[in-house]
Amino acid sequence: MKIVRISAFGLTLPLRRPYELQGGRLRFEELDSTLVRLDTDEGVSGWGEGCPWGSTYLPAFPRGVRAGIEELAPALLGQDPRRTDVVNSVMDKALPGHPYVKSAIDIACWDVLGKSTGLPVCDLLGGRRPGDVTIQSSIPSTDPTEMLRTIESYHARGYTIHSAKVGSDVAADIERIEYLAEHIPVGSSLTIDANRAWMPDQAIRVMRATEAVDAYFEQPCATYDGSLQVRRATRQPILLDEIIHTYADLLRAHRDRACEGIGLKPNRVGGLTKARLFRDFCVQTGMRLNIEDTGGTALADTAAVHLAQATPARYQRGTWFCHEMITVDPIIGGARNLGGVTRAPDIPGLGAEPDPEALGDPVLVVGG
Ligand code: MG
Repeated sequence: MKIVRISAFGLTLPLRRPYELQGGRLRFEELDSTLVRLDTDEGVSGWGEGCPWGSTYLPAFPRGVRAGIEELAPALLGQDPRRTDVVNSVMDKALPGHPYVKSAIDIACWDVLGKSTGLPVCDLLGGRRPGDVTIQSSIPSTDPTEMLRTIESYHARGYTIHSAKVGSDVAADIERIEYLAEHIPVGSSLTIDANRAWMPDQAIRVMRATEAVDAYFEQPCATYDGSLQVRRATRQPILLDEIIHTYADLLRAHRDRACEGIGLKPNRVGGLTKARLFRDFCVQTGMRLNIEDTGGTALADTAAVHLAQATPARYQRGTWFCHEMITVDPIIGGARNLGGVTRAPDIPGLGAEPDPEALGDPVLVVGG
């Protein structure tokens, strides 16, 4: 089987509510996503998506996905998309770095592999594990009572894990954390996600002041060294997210005991092929995982859910659904919210396809 054509479609995804983090960081009203279709000489097509959450979240940007695909396409034409490791080697040779470009292509390759073997992607990533995948909420950082109301509305819909965003001044964050810990619904679990906002001294002061609170703390500082400094001066479990890009980053974090878990986003690490290696390492070493993507439609979310579905439940916290935060739904099928939990589709491939009418014309076509 050979890739004979690569098409890319640009999609604007308006957010239901403008998104921003503390201090007006990462304010967006819409996302710019790229859907990729790989066509093969055997008539099987696969879909992938790249949506790096704007241009200011990671060293990645939406138009870069399209430019990168155009750059990579000549090396990909003629490759067998079912040979996912080979395709990744070809991409890494043709264009070092740029994992957010490769992720969309890699996911499309897994979709082709699943469709051509008659298996859901989760079964190709190690096999469907019993049970559902937990979805975590995303709680914007506001005053504590409003944050609690948001958590309660998610709780009413079945959510049990809540990712509360923090990262303003120390006193306000301590107040938020203590208030939420005291009032969240029984059976709920809290993640305190600073998204890199704290200086090391701020993180240490907040975490020491809230030491009695049973919560995970996510990505306290912007740098690895800053986060490691926090790890060594505090006791609560820490998850690293935005600063884990490569397998070497993960090895270093484990060697230094810098965290107890990671956020694993296929778009940030280069796709499912590479994310699977991270997953395997975390399972072998006892690190916990949030497996979700950086953003996009239900297609990107579904790809991440397939990896989560193939990962033992005890190693996971939760996935997150970007597609519930946008006003359009161009995807047919896919992993959907079943009341705070989800399940990977049980049909060949990803089990998620764009509605052709929602896509319009491709912005890029390479091949015959
Ligand atoms: Mg995070």
